[in-house]
Amino acid sequence: MFNLGNTQIKIPCPECQYENEVSLEDIAKQRTIICGGCLKEIRLVDNNSSTNQAIKETRRSVQNLKDTIKKISK
Ligand SMILES: [Zn+2]
Repeated sequence: MFNLGNTQIKIPCPECQYENEVSLEDIAKQRTIICGGCLKEIRLVDNNSSTNQAIKETRRSVQNLKDTIKKISK
């Protein structure tokens, strides 16, 4: 069974643009991760506009993923 929570996506660090791999579950639970580039903490949901941008990108990716799954399911 395909588990969306285990899907890995890349979130660019607001500080250094390093692309950190996180799971959708991490985002759903609003976990704090450590950037692999600059080692700063990144909150997956906060009021910082660059983080919001990352989350918008994430939502778009999830939507694309759902559309893809629908096509596969036909
Ligand atoms: Zn960073």
